[in-house]
Amino acid sequence: MTGTPFTDRHIGPDAGELDRILALVGASSLDDLARQVVPSGILDTPEDNGLDILPPAISEHEVLAELAALAGENTVATSMIGLGYYDTLTPPVLIRNIIENPAWYTAYTPYQPEISQGRLEALLNFQTMVSDLTGMEVANASMLDESTAAAEAMTLLRRAGKSKSPRFLVDADLFPQTAAVIATRARPLGIEIVTADLTAGLPDGEFFGVLAQTPTATGRVIDSAALIEAAHERGALVAVGADLLAMTLITPPGELGADVCFGTTQRFGVPMGFGGPHAGYLAVHSKHARQLPGRLVGVSKDADGNLAYRLSLQTREQHIRREKATSNICTAQVLLAILAAMYASYHGGDGLRAIARRVHGHAETIASALGDKVVHAKYFDTVLAHVPGQAESVVAAARTRGVNLRLVDTDHVSIACDEATTDAHVALVLEAFGATATETVPAGVINRTSDFLTHPAFNRYRTETAMMRYLRTLADKDIALDRSMIPLGSCTMKLNAAAEMEAITWPTIARLHPFAPADQVTGMRKIIATLEEWLVAITGYDRVSLQPNAGSQGEYAGLLAIREYHRSRGDDNRTVCLIPSSAHGTNAASAVMAGMRVVVVACRENGDVDVDDLRAKIAANAAELSAIMITYPSTHGVFEHEIGDICAAVHDAGGQVYVDGANLNALVGVARPGRFGGDVSHLNLHKTFCIPHGGGGPGVGPIGVREHLAPFLPGHPLADELPGELTISAAPYGSASILPITYAYIRMMGAEGLRQATLTAIASANYIAARLREHFPVLYTGEGDRVAHECIIDLRPLTKSSGVTVDDVAKRLADYGFHAPTMSFPVAGTLMIEPTESENLDEIDAFCDAMISIRAEISKVESGDWSVDDNPLRGAPHTAECLVGEWDHGYDRMVAVYPNGLPSAGGRAKVWPSVRRIDGAFGDRNLVCSCPPIEAFA
Ligand SMILES: *Cc1c(COP(=O)(O)O)cnc(C)c1O
Repeated sequence: MTGTPFTDRHIGPDAGELDRILALVGASSLDDLARQVVPSGILDTPEDNGLDILPPAISEHEVLAELAALAGENTVATSMIGLGYYDTLTPPVLIRNIIENPAWYTAYTPYQPEISQGRLEALLNFQTMVSDLTGMEVANASMLDESTAAAEAMTLLRRAGKSKSPRFLVDADLFPQTAAVIATRARPLGIEIVTADLTAGLPDGEFFGVLAQTPTATGRVIDSAALIEAAHERGALVAVGADLLAMTLITPPGELGADVCFGTTQRFGVPMGFGGPHAGYLAVHSKHARQLPGRLVGVSKDADGNLAYRLSLQTREQHIRREKATSNICTAQVLLAILAAMYASYHGGDGLRAIARRVHGHAETIASALGDKVVHAKYFDTVLAHVPGQAESVVAAARTRGVNLRLVDTDHVSIACDEATTDAHVALVLEAFGATATETVPAGVINRTSDFLTHPAFNRYRTETAMMRYLRTLADKDIALDRSMIPLGSCTMKLNAAAEMEAITWPTIARLHPFAPADQVTGMRKIIATLEEWLVAITGYDRVSLQPNAGSQGEYAGLLAIREYHRSRGDDNRTVCLIPSSAHGTNAASAVMAGMRVVVVACRENGDVDVDDLRAKIAANAAELSAIMITYPSTHGVFEHEIGDICAAVHDAGGQVYVDGANLNALVGVARPGRFGGDVSHLNLHKTFCIPHGGGGPGVGPIGVREHLAPFLPGHPLADELPGELTISAAPYGSASILPITYAYIRMMGAEGLRQATLTAIASANYIAARLREHFPVLYTGEGDRVAHECIIDLRPLTKSSGVTVDDVAKRLADYGFHAPTMSFPVAGTLMIEPTESENLDEIDAFCDAMISIRAEISKVESGDWSVDDNPLRGAPHTAECLVGEWDHGYDRMVAVYPNGLPSAGGRAKVWPSVRRIDGAFGDRNLVCSCPPIEAFA
């Protein structure tokens, strides 16, 4: 290897800093610390941790060469397969300023809205775009993909409707992957799917809902009005999947009375990427807004009465409602949603209409030339041709011309046009059919009369200069990892290295269709197979599936595998899922989706699972015990010593052990869940394995399973090599285009680097605990007063003595230039701090100093020097604007905005929050989820 090892770039503390960290913590070496922290029964030695199969570490430039060679084995053909994935021309200004810009991709979910106004505004644009195009009133801030959005539409209709029927009617001409995901979701919930050709009218009987898409999989533009009317007459609610580009020309289902619209925004500038990531969408009328799953950005006001954005209606979410949540979705597709929204802003309504006309025009040229072979008279971009017995030869003829068409069956071929389609492509297609161009006959589908995207957000940024500045202005309002550490416990905000990110925008990866012929994606398949092998080694499981595109989806996939395993053995009654009270909210929500009944296991005073209560709950539910879901190390940030006993107790009772692997950053190279008792785990590649959080997505939530669960791993109807019956995501390998990030990380770190990263993360967390302990109580510790890779500090005693709340401290940290730690999870009134291995000692110390300084501020409130209602904590965060004009506070302006001291005197670089404390309740009472009229800013 040449040059500085990547490990030294990735891991923050250097040898000297590490010595100081270990000295304060009280350990002689990282290995000594490992022995103090990790239970001896599960601790792997560096010689025997399964990582010997990893190739030796290589440098940044070497890994880029290796990935380029692999990607070079892929063939980028002209894609006209369609089925929800279309080539698109991403404006370079958006590639450079969003996808390749850490200010956007390293942010977290906007839990602290005062320092997230930029991405919240971008997401509000996304919601407005979806609402406008679908004719709906409220859209959420993205779904994981189109197929899961359809499945969520199904369960939404069931919650929202009055019908008690378990039957759900689905059109036969749906994308196969969407039909498969819906079928999987329906199974454990007792929903009976009835599939029928809805052009022939509705079949007899009662249904709680009806679902169709337009255009259909084979390209037919359906008569939504007739379908909606017929369904409503039967007392069923209706969800329509709507292609957003088509909606610029066609009257959208929302205007025709549909109850839900769903779909994808992929073709709005988001590369196909062999299947993902892309933002799905879900939209409803106002009366169903509270039923919407996922994140919803809303408008509210700040302490000075100025307009401000934040996440609304969060009480619907799994974090609060757990097993009663509307859905398990947590990480979504924020970065891709922002990209799609900016694509719409850059083109505006007219630009989108022009693109749609061009796409439609190409389809019309093809259809006219094919004449009476064309099956559907009404189409938008996709033409279905009837060529009896010749479909395979037509597809082959196109393939030799570099064009991928879709082989529907032996008699049918479909051709999907998109933004990248040219006259030359159309000519090649016609050649493949042996057809010649004729005069074009219009398909007669253009009938939209309503206007859309009229808001200034979609009309102001049409030049590159304007767009570049808009993106910069928004990014400047936010704290991402490019400005400060983000010590969000359980979220693992570590470095997303530039070398890891490079490959994702290469055309040899970005322009692959997920259903492209296998011989065109050999490089991608190799990356996937190698990554699976490495993750098997790291986790100690036997098999890995990369299909789930978020942690929540991994949980769901893993629990379904457990369910199917029990059922395959005739244990249909094993439906109880034990979940400790400290668990992440997604756990309970996923268990319910998998048809399980949640039984909560208590935790002890010290935060560990109460093993006595566990044994009691096992005994009480012995015959019905399906699984336990346990996070390890725990969400309290502790390596519980009884993990072995816990797993054994569940196994002895015939249950399976699901280890939530979100905290794998404390385990890699040190202990393997597949070896210490787990049957299945999900990992979050967007936590431990360096995929950036993107402001709330994308993510990848692969699952590892032991051999007996392997038959129940996710499958896919359009990927022969994945024969499983359950389909979790729209694409066979989920968010495939971001897998090279994890590949590059593991490849550059090597076995020793990965273990070093884990132990450094643990050392840094213990260092923070040691520094803060005398100022704030550290809530939970394991043996020897140790924490794992994160620590929880308890503010409740201080709230009692001073009135200063955890909220006040979190907001005050913004004045100091820091993003707050995780607030009130897993325990209300606490902060959970996770430094990760990527922060150097200067940054960690600066954070500790800020916390200690805040503690001194709290003392001034305790002592009465500052009043409870008027102090810099309650007033936080402070904007530049609030400094001008009247100042009638009991503390001065300098304290308000430069608590670290002036930057010119060595203080930390100033971050200026763009709004003051936001009134969340006001926004929930006055729900506004699309761009407010410009007068609202006055
Ligand atoms: C982040 C997290 C999850 C959920 O992962 P997503 O990718 O956000 O769906 C589940 N469990 C724990 C402990 C987590 O920290």
